Amino acid sequence: MPELPEIETIVRFLKSRIVSKTIDRIWTNTDRIFSDHRNFKKIALIAKGGCVQNVDRWGKNVVLFLSKHTILIHLGMSGKLLLSPKSNDSSYIRFKIFFKDGCDLWLHDVRKFSKIRLKSNQSKDGELGADALTVSYSDFENIIGQRRKIIKILLLDQGLISGIGNIYVDEILWAANIHPLTLSSDLSSDKIQDLHRAIKSVLRLAIKKRGTSFKDYRLPDGTRGDYYSIRKVYQRTGEKCFKDGAIIQRIKVSQRSTYFCPEHQRYRS
Ligand SMILES: [Zn+2]
Repeated sequence: MPELPEIETIVRFLKSRIVSKTIDRIWTNTDRIFSDHRNFKKIALIAKGGCVQNVDRWGKNVVLFLSKHTILIHLGMSGKLLLSPKSNDSSYIRFKIFFKDGCDLWLHDVRKFSKIRLKSNQSKDGELGADALTVSYSDFENIIGQRRKIIKILLLDQGLISGIGNIYVDEILWAANIHPLTLSSDLSSDKIQDLHRAIKSVLRLAIKKRGTSFKDYRLPDGTRGDYYSIRKVYQRTGEKCFKDGAIIQRIKVSQRSTYFCPEHQRYRS
């Protein structure tokens, strides 16, 4: 599933290419990707003739700003946004935006978990937690300190901190020397600081590498992100830890595969 670095990469790519373009029309063959599928006609009507004023990221959503409305695109498990793809293969294409200048943006999604939503204003959703890339230390300390929750699960809770998913959470905990099952209430303020720092450094590096492309994710021009080749712990079961040579292990935390080093990420209660 694309996470904050992948969405940020897509947003930066699109920002320099589709801002100030005018939408000619939109098309879909999959009504149910719209959060309110009865409203496809309404969305089509509003989008028609609208000018893209900005592209931004809210949590894991790509957000297109029109003059009054916003279109939120969540790529679900396997969605990809492709800008004017060279191929005419329309398999798995669920949604298209045609711009007046002949350029078009396609949503490709094998598994159909993508969601598109129209908002009649430009204010950020209340249900999204603090953005992982920009959350201040004091806000972060409040979020962590006020709860007694398994740290991996807490970091994945989009209502508390938005943007982190299953790949980067393991990379972050590895960098911060924290066992994934540690209770948030057991973290000292030094550890919370390490964690806050690790979130920023892992996400920034992943953005620099343009995300992780071991599965579906691609940039809108079809190229791959390079983070996977420099990952530290994710999907490295049985391999040596880069910090201390211990063997990386895999466990399940709330049904999700979780990779960690048993040496420098020891469980401490
Ligand atoms: Zn280690």
